[in-house]
Amino acid sequence: MNNQSPNQSLNKSQNLTPTQKALSGLSKEQISNVLVRELGWEKYRVNQIHSWIYSKSSADFEEWTDLSADKRELLSEKFQIPLLKVVNHQISGKDGTEKFLFELSDGNVVESVLMCFEDRDNLTACISSQVGCAVGCPFCATGKLGLKRNLTAAEIVDQIMSIQRTTNKRISNLVFMGQGEPLHNLDNLLEAIQIIRDSIAIGVRHITVSTSGLIPQILELGKTKMQINLAISLHTADQDLREKLVPIAKKWNLFDLMRSLNEYFQMTGRRITFEYTLLKDINDTDEQARALCDLVRDLPFPCLINLIPYNSTGGEFQRPDRSQVSKFKSIVERSGRKVTVRVTLGNDIDAACGQLANKAIENK
Ligand code: SAH
Ligand code: SF4
Repeated sequence: MNNQSPNQSLNKSQNLTPTQKALSGLSKEQISNVLVRELGWEKYRVNQIHSWIYSKSSADFEEWTDLSADKRELLSEKFQIPLLKVVNHQISGKDGTEKFLFELSDGNVVESVLMCFEDRDNLTACISSQVGCAVGCPFCATGKLGLKRNLTAAEIVDQIMSIQRTTNKRISNLVFMGQGEPLHNLDNLLEAIQIIRDSIAIGVRHITVSTSGLIPQILELGKTKMQINLAISLHTADQDLREKLVPIAKKWNLFDLMRSLNEYFQMTGRRITFEYTLLKDINDTDEQARALCDLVRDLPFPCLINLIPYNSTGGEFQRPDRSQVSKFKSIVERSGRKVTVRVTLGNDIDAACGQLANKAIENK
């Protein structure tokens, strides 16, 4: 049974009034700009406030007792802590996965997911990078929304802080596999990753960015030499089929994509993950498995293949039978590459891969 708890963590102070700026989701430098440059406060206040926001996860100025009452009042007049408003928070009765629907200050909404894997103590959050997505993969619920806009770095960062504040849990791993194509919003993504690393203290090796395969941005990311994990949504080794499943493949073909991934590996030394959403009778056949096996066997860089059995989004696609998933896996394993099958989490609350479509707003 779904544990629906709309407005569970809503409080009045989360409504941003137009004259108030958000103080969360900012880097230390940005906090300093606000406090020292705009308000003329002493520099040491920056560390104090940074610590309240990030280390103590406090969204209540009243708790900031190392500031005088006057200062706290001034802050509460001018600023708000949460940038995002939690408008829905659902918890899966099946596996404990939590889904959050956030409202942005312009009224747009995005979703994030908190996943708990049975075999691990650590918590992974799946974060969005855009409102909607322009790529339009036909099996993905977000793709059907189209692109509305990029998220700002602060909006990306505040998803993590909002989840931590709401659940009182500490996130240790992040995957940019929520709504949006992260590399279509590369500048804000990079800025957010720096704030996440420096202020939330989640190491870049614990961060995974998943992309549909935008070659120039993959190379740009490689140049930063950042030690993040890169996941590529491959879905087939056949160029013609890929153009249908991942429309951006018409612009960035498989051959050039593999070449750019090799360059990426040369620059970063990081293994690449290939994601492969298995769609019954479309890309899950033995023939498709052999084509994938041939492709990955010969690649000059280390890679891992992650198979994702399709999660329903209400369209014409279907999830393959378990036996076909196993068969597909064993054929691809002949390449000598490691192949894993992603565990499905949160599908009872539409929180599994590809199911994020802001459905809860229909009930608002
Ligand atoms: N936009 C990025 C990341 C988001 S989705 C990207 O496409 O890479 C994370 C993964 O889930 C991607 O590999 C995506 O193709 C896959 N996915 C999308 N819809 C799915 C669905 N309905 N079932 C299973 N996987 C899906
Ligand atoms: Fe966009 Fe990724 Fe969904 Fe494709 S799978 S539409 S790239 S979010």
